[in-house]
Amino acid sequence: MDLILFGPPGAGKGTQAQFLVETYGVPQVSTGDMLRAAVKAGTPLGVKAQEIMARGGLVSDDIVLGIVAERLAQDDCSSGFVLDGFPRTIPQADALDGILKQAGRAIDHVVSLEVDSEEIVKRLSGRRSCPSCGKGYHVVFDAPVKADVCDVCGTGLVQRADDQEDTVRNRLLVYEQQTAPLKEYYQSKQILCSIPGIGPIAEIQQRIAAALEK
Ligand code: AMP
Repeated sequence: MDLILFGPPGAGKGTQAQFLVETYGVPQVSTGDMLRAAVKAGTPLGVKAQEIMARGGLVSDDIVLGIVAERLAQDDCSSGFVLDGFPRTIPQADALDGILKQAGRAIDHVVSLEVDSEEIVKRLSGRRSCPSCGKGYHVVFDAPVKADVCDVCGTGLVQRADDQEDTVRNRLLVYEQQTAPLKEYYQSKQILCSIPGIGPIAEIQQRIAAALEK
């Protein structure tokens, strides 16, 4: 099953991708995660991407397509994948079609998680994580026992640079301008299913499973 999880930043793509990984046994391919790993490792690609990511812009199509093509060619993607955060532009979507066509494949479903902008600003600007063990928190919805300290390992929590409110608003603008038009692109191929992305996580999972089983 070749899937795209689509939606604005903070729609819950990462969370729902985990569910799809467990349900369908396919790997999650997150361009955001791959780029953050490159930034952390200080690779030449990471150095190029770092500043663009910190202000919430889009990394160039060339860079992103390079890492996606390499990742999709790996063995664990041979019977499917869940793309998370990719494609984000029409040229990326066209290039993805080309890569898959060469392998005799095509995207089966695009699951679009619908969440309004104010909810996203609330979700992302309150998001924190532990730099040591990786556990995620939210200052309102999932607060640690002691403010700003990890419950598991006692390390001080951090906020992603691009989760600061101004940057979140810029990411949403970029989404509306460059990424949202992809909904029509996939609608015209009749592979888009739109799912309300607000509510308990388990309910959203059920909505996705029901849409995919149709
Ligand atoms: P995400 O974790 O998916 O929100 O991605 C974090 C940041 O990585 C984005 O704000 C972009 O700067 C960059 N990024 C991730 N995926 C892409 C993509 N497909 N095209 C361009 N930039 C991307």
